[in-house]
Amino acid sequence: MTSRKCSFEETAVIARKAIPFMSENQIAVNPRNYHIWYEYFQSTRKDLKDELDSLLDAGKPMDERTMEKIYEKFFHHSYEDDEREKKIEEEIKVINRVNRDTERMLRPLRTGLSELSGKTEDYSARLEQYANKILGVSQQEAGSVLKAISSDTKDAAISNRSASERMTVYAKRIEELNYNLTRARKEARIDDLTHIANRRAFNESLEREVKWATKVGKVSTLIMIDIDFFKKINDLHGHQVGDRALSGVAGILDRRSTQDITVFRYGGEEFAIILHDSALDKAIEVAERSRNEVGGATFEVGKAEIRITISLGVSEIKGGRSLDNSSRMADEALYLAKESGRNNVKSELEIIKAGC
Ligand code: GH3
Ligand code: MG
Ligand code: MG
Repeated sequence: MTSRKCSFEETAVIARKAIPFMSENQIAVNPRNYHIWYEYFQSTRKDLKDELDSLLDAGKPMDERTMEKIYEKFFHHSYEDDEREKKIEEEIKVINRVNRDTERMLRPLRTGLSELSGKTEDYSARLEQYANKILGVSQQEAGSVLKAISSDTKDAAISNRSASERMTVYAKRIEELNYNLTRARKEARIDDLTHIANRRAFNESLEREVKWATKVGKVSTLIMIDIDFFKKINDLHGHQVGDRALSGVAGILDRRSTQDITVFRYGGEEFAIILHDSALDKAIEVAERSRNEVGGATFEVGKAEIRITISLGVSEIKGGRSLDNSSRMADEALYLAKESGRNNVKSELEIIKAGC
């Protein structure tokens, strides 16, 4: 959503700084203002940050006019900006919805807690009164005070129990809400057709690997995969058979999944595998095994059976190599695999040799 791609977690961390800051400074949370303060807290634009810092230091009010000027000065309008704004609007909607839901859940819990503490205070005040009364009274009078204490204790126990039952219900609802949120986040990263990780999950994972490789100076690998002549399958057998074949290929590739190996549907009839902390030769082995398994499988089409082959390109994800460069190398290796007759594996080593 910004000039730099951000993971969901990073976006949430920045949003948690930007939104309270905006409300403290009475800055309206609209897409334009959120864009400005998001960039400010993300600290990727030094010029913008310096300007805002100097305005803040001078105690200038962050009113609409000032925000407008800042926006005009630092964000020229382009198609990319419009897209970004749409995403920001969506994010604000999600944040507001989660806030509203959480608030709705917490309201009765708060009321319940304050009721409970009010009742406990009443009860202890009455106990204190009884304690004062009981000093220096006759045995008979003490008996009636004790009866009153016993009846108040029963009342307090009943109201405590019902409050705690209500609280258990609310806590369960909050747990459900959290569970649904977590599930929704996971579902947003799963491909509808093949039920493996989708392009969004791929982008996030690749970004994480590039950061990790840069930080620790180690290597992960990327395999890009494309089904050969897939269009023919659709043309000959129809789109539905094509869909079933895609799910079948996804299932075979996904058998390679482990804690460190993730298989994605990159889009259309293309897949990707990211191997965390893995050398190029190990990834080439995985690619060869995947190619053999897909090529060796038969896919049922009515009474007939079809065979499918795949081409694969393998590259390293390593420090000093940008996100785009990492996937471009694998793409180029895949292109070479197609050029060399399909149904084979090529790696970045061969691109270098071939002088691509
Ligand atoms: P190549 O060996 O060069 O990769 O040939 P190809 O036919 O696989 O490649 P091309 O890019 O010409 O065609 C890809 C086809 O994949 C075209 C498109 O209709 C089909 N396709 C993409 N997504 C889906 C999908 O979700 N379901 C089905 N059934 N087909 C899809
Ligand atoms: Mg393709
Ligand atoms: Mg293809």
